[in-house]
Amino acid sequence: MSAKALLNFGNTKSDASKLAQKAEKALETYPFDDISPAIALKINPRAKRMALRLDVKKRVVNLVIPKRGSMRSAYLFALEHKYWIRHKIDELPDLITFENGVQIPILGVPHEIKVTLDTTLKTTSIELKNKEILVFSNKEDVTSRIKRFIVAHAKAELTALANKKANEINKIIECVDVKDTSSRWGSCSYDGRISFSWRLIFAPMEAFDYVVAHEVAHLQHMDHSPAFWHACEDLSANYSKGKTWMKRHSEDLIRYN
Ligand SMILES: [Zn+2]
Repeated sequence: MSAKALLNFGNTKSDASKLAQKAEKALETYPFDDISPAIALKINPRAKRMALRLDVKKRVVNLVIPKRGSMRSAYLFALEHKYWIRHKIDELPDLITFENGVQIPILGVPHEIKVTLDTTLKTTSIELKNKEILVFSNKEDVTSRIKRFIVAHAKAELTALANKKANEINKIIECVDVKDTSSRWGSCSYDGRISFSWRLIFAPMEAFDYVVAHEVAHLQHMDHSPAFWHACEDLSANYSKGKTWMKRHSEDLIRYN
C-alpha cells in the first residue's frame, strides 16, 4: 500500500483530471509515504480548509485539500498530524476474511466456516447450519463464493423481516435491496424502496431488527420527528438495546471481507 491521489469532487471532467494530476505530483514531490502509506490526497473544490478524515471501510486517512491549497502546506499539515494518522490506522480492527476455520457472527451467533475440498465436485455448495457454514468445493479459494452466499442470505433475511414489519402497519414495500455501504446502514425512499447494508447480518438480532424497524417506520414518517421514533420503537423487538448497539459497535460490521 502507498499514499494515493483521490478525486471525486471536480466540477468538470477536465477540472477533475487537473486536480488529480496536481495530487499525483504532490505525492512525487513530498514523502507522504513516510508519514503513512495509508494517506489519500483528496483535492475538494468545495473544501474551505485542510482536514483529515478517516475512511474506515477503505482503511485510509483522507487528507482533504481546498482547490487552491498549496501542496507543501498539505504535506506540512499531514506531518504535523502524523501520530494521529498512524494511531487511527493502527486502531482499526483487523479484517476478517471468509476462509476455513474462521468464526463469523450471523445475527450475533458465531458460525465457523468449514471448507471441504473435493476435486471430484462439479460445483460449490454452501449450507448454513446451526453454528457452522459448511462449504463443499473443488476450488481452493472460496472466499468470494462465501461472501456471495452471505450477501444473498442477508438479503433474504432483511427482506423477510422488513415485509413482516411493513405488514404490521399495513404498508407495502416496493422493493428491498442490499448494498455495501458503511456510513448508512439503511435508507428508505418516498416510493417505498428500502435498501440495507448486507453487513447488518453480522450484527446481533436486536440491532439488525432495530435497523429494519427504522427503515420500515420511514414508510409512515419520512422524517425523524417524535412520531417517527414512536413508530420505530413500536416496530422494534428491543429498540433501546438495538439502537445503542448500532451507535457503539456498527463500525465492527466493516471488518468482514
Ligand atoms: Zn432514518
